[in-house]
Amino acid sequence: MAQLTTEKWIDEIKHKTEKVGGISLADASEKDLFYAICGIVSEEMNKNWIDTQDLYKQTQTKQVYYLSMEFLIGRLLESNLLNTGMLDACNEALVKMGYDPEKVYSIEHDAGLGNGGLGRLAACFLESIASLKFAGHGCGIRYRYGLFEQRIIHGHQVELPDYWLKEEYPWETRKAEEAIDIHFGGDIHMLKKNDGSLEFKYENTDKVTAVPYDVPIAGYQNGVVNTLRLWSAESNSGTTDMMSTQNSQYFHHLDHKHSIEQISGFLYPDDSGYDGKVLRLKQQYFLVSSSLKSIIRQYKKNISRSLIHLPEKIVIQINDTHPSLAVPELMRILMDEERFGWDDAWEITTKTVAYTNHTTLSEALEKWPQDMVKSLLPRLHMIINEINERFCTEVWNNYPELQNKVHELAIIADDQIHMARLAIVGSFSVNGVARLHTEILKKKEMKNFYTLFPDRFNNKTNGITHRRWLLQVNPELSSLITDVIGPQWITRPNQLISLLRYSRDEPFLDRVSEVKLRNKAKLANFIHEKTGITVNEHSIFDVQIKRLHEYKRQLLNIFHVIHLYNELKDNPNLDITPRTFIFGAKAAPSYYFAKEVIKLINRMASIINNDASINDKLKVVFLENYNVSLAEKIIPATDISEQISTASKEASGTGNMKMMMNGALTVGTLDGANIEIRDLVGDRNIFIFGLTADEVLHYYHHGGYVARDIYNTDERVRRILDQLNEGAFGSQEIEFKDIYYHILYHNDPYFVLKDFDAYIEAHELVEQAYRDKSTWMNMSMTNTAYSGKFSSDRTIQEYASEIWKLKRMD
Ligand SMILES: *Cc1c(COP(=O)(O)O)cnc(C)c1O
Repeated sequence: MAQLTTEKWIDEIKHKTEKVGGISLADASEKDLFYAICGIVSEEMNKNWIDTQDLYKQTQTKQVYYLSMEFLIGRLLESNLLNTGMLDACNEALVKMGYDPEKVYSIEHDAGLGNGGLGRLAACFLESIASLKFAGHGCGIRYRYGLFEQRIIHGHQVELPDYWLKEEYPWETRKAEEAIDIHFGGDIHMLKKNDGSLEFKYENTDKVTAVPYDVPIAGYQNGVVNTLRLWSAESNSGTTDMMSTQNSQYFHHLDHKHSIEQISGFLYPDDSGYDGKVLRLKQQYFLVSSSLKSIIRQYKKNISRSLIHLPEKIVIQINDTHPSLAVPELMRILMDEERFGWDDAWEITTKTVAYTNHTTLSEALEKWPQDMVKSLLPRLHMIINEINERFCTEVWNNYPELQNKVHELAIIADDQIHMARLAIVGSFSVNGVARLHTEILKKKEMKNFYTLFPDRFNNKTNGITHRRWLLQVNPELSSLITDVIGPQWITRPNQLISLLRYSRDEPFLDRVSEVKLRNKAKLANFIHEKTGITVNEHSIFDVQIKRLHEYKRQLLNIFHVIHLYNELKDNPNLDITPRTFIFGAKAAPSYYFAKEVIKLINRMASIINNDASINDKLKVVFLENYNVSLAEKIIPATDISEQISTASKEASGTGNMKMMMNGALTVGTLDGANIEIRDLVGDRNIFIFGLTADEVLHYYHHGGYVARDIYNTDERVRRILDQLNEGAFGSQEIEFKDIYYHILYHNDPYFVLKDFDAYIEAHELVEQAYRDKSTWMNMSMTNTAYSGKFSSDRTIQEYASEIWKLKRMD
C-alpha cells in the first residue's frame, strides 16, 4: 500500500481540513482532524475495496457470508490505519502537529452494534477473514440505537440511549440503489398449475425497504478489503407527497413510517430472555431476507442464473439461532421465486447453511410462539411446518430408538417453534465454540440430534484477533516481542510460542514488567480522571470485565472482596499485597438481580475506598459503560483475569483469551476455553479452582447440594451473608437482603457458596505467586507465548477448511 511519509501525512491532513472541510488547519479541532484522517484512510481502502470485489467476481471464488444480529466492532480508525500500514506515520504526523493521537482517535463513537462476546466474535472473525485473504463478508443490522450507554449514579445503573449515529459515521457508504424489498404478513394464495405443481402468491403484505450501508473491512497489510453490510429499514413512500393530503392521513402515514423504521431502531439488550417480542422477530426476518436476497442477486449477476449449484459458491454461517429463519427463507426463495421442487430446494438449502451454537442456557434457547410466526410470516410458517412434518416422519420411520423422543426433537412442539432445532435440521454443520461446550452439546443438550446427525457436529474453539487485542492495544509489549522474535507473529500468531525461550530471560522480563507497570499507571490515571479514585499501580490489578450475569458470578468476586475487607477490619496489620479490584459490566435493563450486584459492587467500592483503616491495601473500582474501547484500556494493564463462571455455563469466553495474551494470569473455573488455556500453559501457570462441569451437571440432575449447609459451617460465608441481611452495607437495612434471600432460599443456583472456599484459596496462591516477581513474570510470559492458539486466525482457518471449504486468495 502507498506509504505516506510523515510530511506527506501533514500535507494530506491540511488538504482535507482546509480544502474539503473548509477549516484552516490552525483552527481545526480534534474532531476536524479525526474526519480528515478518516477521509484519507477511506480513500486508501476504497481502491482496494473495488479491486477485491472485482477479483472475487472474476475468479468466481466461493464466498462466506457471516449472518449475525450483532457486530461489536468498536472504533475503526486506529485498526484501519494499522491494517492499511499507515498507523505509525499518522501517529508521528499528529504528534508533530502538536496533537495527542489517542485523543483524536477517541473522537470516534464506538459502534455498539452488539451486546458482548457473540458480537465481538463476529467482529474479530471479519478481521481475520480479511487478513487471511478469504472471501467473506458480514451481514447485520444498522441499529440506530446501539446497546444503552451505562451511567452509574449513586451506585445504580442508569441506562441512556446510545445514539451512536448522532455524528456522521465516517466508515459507512449508503447503497440506496441496492435496496431490497422485504414483505411481512399478508395473505397467501395457493394455485394449482396445469402441470400439477403449486404456486404461491402473496397479497396485501406490508412492504419494508431494506437499504444497505457498507463498511469496509481491511485485511492486515494485504490489499484485501471485504464488506460488512448493515441493513437499515426505511419506508419507501416519501413523506412530501403526503403533505397535501388530509391531516389525519398524514399522521397515520407518519405512524406507519415510524413503525417501519423501528425495525432497525434499536438493538435488543442482552442475549437472552426476549422471546415473545414481535419486533425482535421482525428484525431477524429483516436481516435474513435482505441478506439472502442480496447474496442471490449478486450470485445471479456474477455466477449463474440458476441456483442449482449455489452451495459450490456460497456458504452462509449463522451466528447463533438469531438468523435461523435463513433456512425457511432460502427454501421460500428457491421454491416460490426460483421454481425448484421441495427436494432440490432442501438439498441446496441444507448444503448452504451452517450453524454456530453459542449457549446451552435454557433461557437463551430461542423459541417463537407459532401464532406470531404465522401472522407475521405466513409463508415461512407453512414451510417450517412442512420441514417439521418431514423431519418427524423421518425420525419415526427410520430411528425406532428415538420414537419416544420425537417430542423433544420436533421443531414445533407445544405451539412453539424451536429455533435451535430448526437450525440443526436445516444446516450441514453445527458447531460449538469450545471443546467442553461441543462435548456438552453432543453428549447432553443435543444428544438426540447427535445420534441422528453425528457427522454434522464439530468444534471450533473461539478466538480473538491478536492484531487488535495485542498489537494495537499494547504497542509497547508488541514491540518488545518483535525485538526478540521478529515480526512474523503478526501474521503467524503461533510464532508467539518462541517467547518461551525468553521466559526466564531476566533482563527481557524486566522490560516486560516495566511495560506492564506503565500500562497500569496509565489505567490508574484514567481511573482517577473518571472516578476520582486513586489507585496504586504497584497493587495487583484484579479484573473482571464482561456482561453482568449470575452465571458469570461477579457475586463470587465481590464476596472475596468483602471477605478481605472483613479480615482487614479484624486485623488492620494483616500483611497483604495491595489489590485493586476492577469491574466493568452492563446488566440487561430488566435483569433485577444483576442490577443488585452492580449496586453491591459500587457500595463496597465506596465503603472500602473511603475507609482510612484499610490504608489503601484494597481498592474497588467500577468503571461505567463497559465496551470495546474500555476493554482496550483495561486489558493491557491486567494482572489477574477473573474467569469464574459456574462450570458448564460459559460456552467459551473470549475475554479470557484477550487477557492471557497480554500476560495476565487467569483465576478460573474449568469452563469454556479456560480448559484449553490450562491444557496449554499447564497447571503451574493458571489458578484453577472449583466444581467441574460434570459435578455441576450432576447436582442439577440429582440434587445433593444444600447451600444452607455451607452457610451453617463456613463462618466467613455466614458473616458475609449476615452482613447483607442485616444491612451492614446498606444505607437502608433492607438494601441487600434480596441477595441473601436469593442465595439461601433459591439454593444458590450458580454455586457461589459451594465454590467460595476454593476461590479464596486460589487467591491466596495468587498472592504468594505475586510476591516472587521473577516467577510471576515467567508465568505471565508463558501465557503470552501460548496465546497464539487463541488468535481468531486459527479459528477462521478451521472454519474455512473444515466447514466453508474456502481457499485463500493467493
Ligand atoms: C471480549 C468482550 C466481551 C466478551 O467477554 P467475556 O469475558 O468472554 O464474556 C464482551 N464485551 C466486550 C466489549 C468485549 O470486548
